[in-house]
Amino acid sequence: DGALLEVSELAVAFGDLRAVRGVSLTVEKGQTLAIVGESGSGKSITSLAVMGLLPAQAKVVGGGITLDGVSLLDLAPDELRRLRGEELAMIFQDPLSALNPSLTVGYQIAEMFRRRRGASRAAANERAVEAMAEVGIPDAAGRARSYPHEFSGGMRQRIMIAMALALEPRLLIADEPTTALDVTVQAQILRLLRERQRAGLAMIIISHDLGVVARTAQSVIVMYAGQAVESGTVAEVYDAPAHPYTLGLMAASPSARTSRRGIRPIDGNPPDQAALPTGCAFHPRCPFARERCRTETPPLRRLPSGRASACHFAEEVLAHDRTAGA
Ligand code: SF4
Ligand code: MG
Repeated sequence: DGALLEVSELAVAFGDLRAVRGVSLTVEKGQTLAIVGESGSGKSITSLAVMGLLPAQAKVVGGGITLDGVSLLDLAPDELRRLRGEELAMIFQDPLSALNPSLTVGYQIAEMFRRRRGASRAAANERAVEAMAEVGIPDAAGRARSYPHEFSGGMRQRIMIAMALALEPRLLIADEPTTALDVTVQAQILRLLRERQRAGLAMIIISHDLGVVARTAQSVIVMYAGQAVESGTVAEVYDAPAHPYTLGLMAASPSARTSRRGIRPIDGNPPDQAALPTGCAFHPRCPFARERCRTETPPLRRLPSGRASACHFAEEVLAHDRTAGA
């Protein structure tokens, strides 16, 4: 069994609000899973739950999370802290929020080797410079003495990646890692992540950009209103989405390789978690919706190819896309 991370029926609540409502996912060793959806879909909350870094008001209220068979929800706080960095690491859209503005980046990376590996000051500094060079920071020895604000956005993201990978974790969660970067720098960061994938790093990449997903992940989960509405391999899902929401995301994504005739981007906004629509939560925005969708909640169900869709009319969506598609 190649499963590294297993999340089953995860539910996360903010008080009475369910931000994540029964999400299951698997990351195989050395593989990359993408979680896709608009902001507010629960994708970041899902990953923060995996990291044990949920905001104070949020709570896991159901389901399980295991890493190599070990239940993360049952770990003591200090055990979980050890795991973060050593086994699991995370990078964010905004590296500045994760870096200390008043310490040099070399010091911040070296600190990890001192604290976690008991390295001497000199050895830790040397390893920090190596870590910076490995992620492609030119003149790493000189730049180690610079402060976070003295780097460009792309270089800061490289520093975040260097810090995240310093202790050689097995799983990296990347939450919108290239969203704040221009296209050229974005391509460089994705290349860097792909190099690490080839070296065996497993990843969860969270993105609203289907082009980024296509270039990094093997499998994908599409989230809407706190639930998975479609899952499968990237090849299958991109070739023929089995949920109207996925079709709409593709139409809205200029960088997705597929462009589809006859499909318009989705109108409207994601629902308010405090007032979810009845039946299928997507029905007010769905071009395929009918009466049944207002009353009956569609379960996530397996389709013959092994993928899954939470749409009553998944077969019809597949057939529609085949006739309307480019
Ligand atoms: Fe649209 Fe109905 Fe399918 Fe929901 S169940 S995605 S409303 S067709
Ligand atoms: Mg987010």
